[in-house]
Amino acid sequence: MNDEQSKNERHKKAMEKQKAKVDSRIEAASTERGVAIVLTGNGKGKSSSAFGMVMRALGYGHKVGVVQFIKGEQLSGEELYIKNQCPQVDLYQMGTGFTWNTQDRSGDIREAEKTWAVASKMLADDSYDLVVLDELTYMIAYKYLDEQMVLDAIANRPVEQSVVVTGRGGGSALQELVDTVSEVKDIKHAFKSGIKARKGVDY
Ligand code: ATP
Ligand code: MG
Repeated sequence: MNDEQSKNERHKKAMEKQKAKVDSRIEAASTERGVAIVLTGNGKGKSSSAFGMVMRALGYGHKVGVVQFIKGEQLSGEELYIKNQCPQVDLYQMGTGFTWNTQDRSGDIREAEKTWAVASKMLADDSYDLVVLDELTYMIAYKYLDEQMVLDAIANRPVEQSVVVTGRGGGSALQELVDTVSEVKDIKHAFKSGIKARKGVDY
């Protein structure tokens, strides 16, 4: 056996071992139900990942609800796309701009509660396969919404429904409750080297 052949042989063995591991994990995962996911961390990619799941779900004709708890002043591509191309997606956006821009705490709380009313209705409706609660974590962090109320609604949602929560922070109770938590780590961001937020990439 020459060098190349033995490399190939080793690679084949390693792959067989890896496949056996993955197969046994697939076999062990026997529970069929919707999943609750938190996408958090300081890096870029939380909301765009959630909208990637919206696209996946729509590919299967699933029913999707999206609630955005912080609406930027800027229109976003996902907002335009859903409004113009996906009339089947129920989209609700909180009426205020960035929370740190509005200095009206009680007005923000009223808006947060109004927005939560829409979200909690979706979380109680088993016709939704996927519910995205974009930037919800800030409502918990600012105490605009009662944490326990949010946790209960997520915990008591229909068995087949999946929910995705995005935003930094959000607290350990939420992370404990859900099935999957991913933290997007900020290694570097274009903004910090003076590059303007880019249409179709950042918004
Ligand atoms: P995206 O919507 O791009 O997935 P995100 O949801 O992870 O980002 P947010 O905190 O919601 O992040 O901020 C949204 C906007 O802020 C986007 O324009 C994004 O590019 C930008 N942003 C995200 N992370 C950072 C960062 N670490 N530094 C500077 N800007 C950031
Ligand atoms: Mg976001």
